[in-house]
Amino acid sequence: MSKPATAPKNKVTIGHVFKTIVWPRRKLLFIGLILIVISRAAGLVPPWATKPFMDDILVNHQMDKLPMLLIGVTIAILIQAVTSFLLTKILSVEAQHLISVLRSRVQKHLLRLPIRFFDNQKSGALVSRVMNDVEGVRNLVGTGLVQLVGGVLTAIISVGFLININPLMTLFVLLPMSIFGVITLKAFSIIRPVFRERGKITAEVTGRLTETLNGVRVIKGFNAEPQEIKVFEKGVDQLFQNVKKSLTSTSFVTSAGTFLVGLASVGIMGLSGYFNLTAGDFLQFTMFMVFMIAPIVQMSNIGSQLTEAFAGLDRTEELMNMPIEDDGTVRTVKIGTIKGDMEFKNVSFAYEEGKPVLKNIDFKAPAGTVTALVGTSGSGKTTIAGLTASFLNPDSGTITIDGIDMSKVSLDSFRSQLGVVLQDDFLFEGTIRENILFPRPNATENELKSAVHAAFVHEFTDRFELGLDTVIGERGVKLSGGQRQRIAIARAILANPRILILDEATSNLDTESESFIQDSLKTLMQGRTTFVIAHRLSTIRQADQILVIEDGQIAERGKHEELIEKKGRYFQLYTYQARI
Ligand code: ADP
Repeated sequence: MSKPATAPKNKVTIGHVFKTIVWPRRKLLFIGLILIVISRAAGLVPPWATKPFMDDILVNHQMDKLPMLLIGVTIAILIQAVTSFLLTKILSVEAQHLISVLRSRVQKHLLRLPIRFFDNQKSGALVSRVMNDVEGVRNLVGTGLVQLVGGVLTAIISVGFLININPLMTLFVLLPMSIFGVITLKAFSIIRPVFRERGKITAEVTGRLTETLNGVRVIKGFNAEPQEIKVFEKGVDQLFQNVKKSLTSTSFVTSAGTFLVGLASVGIMGLSGYFNLTAGDFLQFTMFMVFMIAPIVQMSNIGSQLTEAFAGLDRTEELMNMPIEDDGTVRTVKIGTIKGDMEFKNVSFAYEEGKPVLKNIDFKAPAGTVTALVGTSGSGKTTIAGLTASFLNPDSGTITIDGIDMSKVSLDSFRSQLGVVLQDDFLFEGTIRENILFPRPNATENELKSAVHAAFVHEFTDRFELGLDTVIGERGVKLSGGQRQRIAIARAILANPRILILDEATSNLDTESESFIQDSLKTLMQGRTTFVIAHRLSTIRQADQILVIEDGQIAERGKHEELIEKKGRYFQLYTYQARI
């Protein structure tokens, strides 16, 4: 068997799947197996009945045997119907249950991966991995596996009957079927990587489509629809080529099956003349032959489903094997309520090896103070904020919180005391109330109201018919930038964090919004250790310390007046109104 050129790194093995997916469900699968044995045994009654029907009733006119035969066949059909109903019901429900469990598990793992993982991924592609890749197990736990076993059983029993009727003719049937078996196995070894690739393409195409839809304003704004259409067409075509590849293999298997079955039938016809079979024997032989071949052909279908399942599990496994940001082994210190003293000691950081973004950053941010980070775009301010939030980890040097090394602190215990208000703050589709409540869904109505007032959210929601229960569109597009900011501020006030990270909007807000936002930010920052990527002069003037970042280093530090007096880099930025 030829090996695929690029052997996937995280290929799941049959043993692994058996241990984790099949074995825990052994009871249900065993019940399924019993049901399928009953169902298949009942299914063998009609072909068996053809011989007595032909030879005894039609040829020898033994009519007294007819009622029993009819009753027997009817009961067998009934048993078959009931058992296959139960089979589908029990196993399909279990399969769907497993799919939902796996989806939750993958989503949970995904959310625990470090921020840097998401920098390199399309969100739509990840959606596809969570939703589609696990779908395949339906065929493992559902009726697929059981049918496979049932099929094998039926085929074996049928072979027994066939040998009983005529061993030589049986051999004649088995030969083409064995060839078919070999072809099928070969085909599946070719198809598995194709299926694996398909999942990847689907994820990419879905990912791009999601991005296109999210960025529809930019696309229309730049009249870039034709380009997006082209990219999508290319993706869809890749998908088509992939499906075509697997279709070629599967149709080859099906046609080979049909051809070989036909060949066997022709041979049987000839041989039954040669062996002088009775009409009943001939009919019974043919029927059993169909009963032997049908499950084998069916097995090739199931085989393709199982191949798809394995390919999906390969991809899921790949994701599940990625290390999470806090597995509890290194970050063992659980901190209680913190004071909020933070310190960077000689911290350096690079996104890519050899290209340092931060160099020897060294500063103290005492509890309850405001540290403003200023500097030109690309100087490293966001990276410092990311390190503060422990989204990133220093390559060298340490960051401490209340004197404790941050790299040892459990992320849960730290982040529950962290709040972030970002420039284009993320709002969920839902009501304004839900958006504010999301860090603390169980906050009381009074707590909510006071956050809403502190951030002046009521100033505009009072004008809405539904007030706080107004539904905002995806990413809050129906609100102005200033209104979105105020919701984000209310959210942070309600969360009541000890450490606050603020990325001020660079775009100019209308003067009215601006004054509301300034007032609410003052309330928000009070008593919290705040790091602000500052663009507003008012914020910068109030800061306890300003760090001027230049090319990944602290070029200057101090308060506004001190720095102005110094007439250095800050003075330049300030007086020339360069982008701070
Ligand atoms: P600022 O916030 O001051 O504009 P950043 O901290 O965002 O600056 O960026 C500092 C430098 O790091 C820039 O040169 C930027 O290109 C680079 N950078 C930022 N994010 C990434 C990333 N995820 N991967 C690689 N380089 C990055």
